[in-house]
Amino acid sequence: MKQPLAMTGVRPAALQERADRPARPDEGRSAVALAQAAVRIGPRTIWSDVSLSVDRGDFVALLGPNGAGKSTLLKVLLGALPLAAGSARVLGEAPGEANRAIGYLPQRRAFDAGTRLRALDIVRLGFDGDRWGLPLPVSLPRALGERWSRGREARDRVAEALELVGAAPYAQRPIGELSGGEQQRVLIAQALVRQPRLLLLDEPLDSLDLPNQAAVAGLVARICRDQGVAAVLVAHDVNPLLPYLDRVVYLAHGRAVEGPVREVMTSATLSDLYEVPVEVLHASDGRLVVVGQPEAPAHHHDRHVMGPGEHGHAG
Ligand code: ADP
Ligand code: MG
Repeated sequence: MKQPLAMTGVRPAALQERADRPARPDEGRSAVALAQAAVRIGPRTIWSDVSLSVDRGDFVALLGPNGAGKSTLLKVLLGALPLAAGSARVLGEAPGEANRAIGYLPQRRAFDAGTRLRALDIVRLGFDGDRWGLPLPVSLPRALGERWSRGREARDRVAEALELVGAAPYAQRPIGELSGGEQQRVLIAQALVRQPRLLLLDEPLDSLDLPNQAAVAGLVARICRDQGVAAVLVAHDVNPLLPYLDRVVYLAHGRAVEGPVREVMTSATLSDLYEVPVEVLHASDGRLVVVGQPEAPAHHHDRHVMGPGEHGHAG
């Protein structure tokens, strides 16, 4: 079996802390605030002068070609990479400080077909991934009592999260046997199980067919609306997200543009960002097609499920 998912990715222990501490008065509505931020890996500046603001309840897509630094941006928000310039606040705190209130779905997840863990076990890992190796209890009866009530709470939360994403019908099935769309819902349930206030989802639509991309996008939008959760979703194609998005961030050439989709995804704005002529075409069905951007997808042959609306944003 592969490593349990709750234990992969960035600073897993910190991510698995409880989300349900009371909100601090200074937290307000801001979920993410980046100002003139820059990040460097080794000698390379990945991006600079990135300003971004995401409020509670907002659903924001993070787009851009392969290697533009989208995953890097999520890692900055998690406090796993320091800024080389500018400032960042996440849920009113320095990056990394509020990780217990963040549901993070890292990029590249796959289960072997033979993985026997059930869907609900995967979600449960998200709930108590950091509970292994507790220090020795001072009082055994008290510790047992706490463990019992915590176990009940965990079962309720897991059931709730599975219900929320529509995965309850296959909760008992081994994750390796589920379809890509079903697995993705289970992983989103895992990110949700601690009732986070911010969701960071790195390409959750990756490898899903179009109906499932739309369904997962709709699900995230509903969670934002109903639970007041902010979501930053890294995506390859804006089209399945168009009906749901509040804002979009477009990363390319070490820079970013941010705003409502119809403002950012225009020929003028993208040409300026790419420094070459780019055309944004509006298909009759409302889809956007970006033509002429320099970076064509170098791989991801599996992604050719998008049909004529595909406009070549790779991972
Ligand atoms: P995206 O998610 O947009 O495809 P990434 O954020 O993964 O892009 O990567 C942005 C750039 O940073 C890429 O050029 C990548 O090679 C580089 N990069 C990412 N992580 C590391 C690392 N740990 N060491 C060196 N370079 C890295
Ligand atoms: Mg990435």
